[in-house]
Amino acid sequence: MRSGRRRRRSHTTPLILAATIVVLGAGGPSLAAADRPEIRVDRASFADSENGDFFSYVRIAVAVGEILHRFPEDFPQPPPIDIKIRAQNAAELTQLDESLSSAGCELIDGRAEVIVNLRVLTGTRALNDAELRSLLGHEMRHAYQFAKGSPDGNSPDFWRREVEAFEWELSHDDAAVRPWYRRETQQQLRLYYALLDHD
Ligand SMILES: [Zn+2]
Repeated sequence: MRSGRRRRRSHTTPLILAATIVVLGAGGPSLAAADRPEIRVDRASFADSENGDFFSYVRIAVAVGEILHRFPEDFPQPPPIDIKIRAQNAAELTQLDESLSSAGCELIDGRAEVIVNLRVLTGTRALNDAELRSLLGHEMRHAYQFAKGSPDGNSPDFWRREVEAFEWELSHDDAAVRPWYRRETQQQLRLYYALLDHD
């Protein structure tokens, strides 16, 4: 997760579509073999959510497709477990911690769910495409981490996973990432370094 303005965790379901072929694929369920893990962007979840619409879905799907295309060694295909990327749902939006949210990744029934608060796409602090890829890449790294170890919350393991995810963001920095986003990433990384030092 990213704390401060962005982060999140939760549960739910709906329909889907394979991320890499999403945009032109238009809508039906994935044709991938049933037991082959895959990364999907959950189109229906975007229709459900407060700020969501088809274009939010397209933007997220394009960002995910681009991450997979640019960084195949960090996100090998097929993934080790199913990864669903979806919009935060209405129930989650009413939870007390939602004011802190922007995105998170949770292990739910053996599947990683990357949950996006669609406010990252709108308003004065809306992310540009490079920042969106950074944010989503961070959360997708957590999905790959879950396949290797525990998804435990607040613990040294959790801090190490955050360190790895924030380091991933900084080491795949894009020139279009704005200084405030980069500063925030560096600040969060320092926070988790500090927590580990005190372990
Ligand atoms: Zn994280």
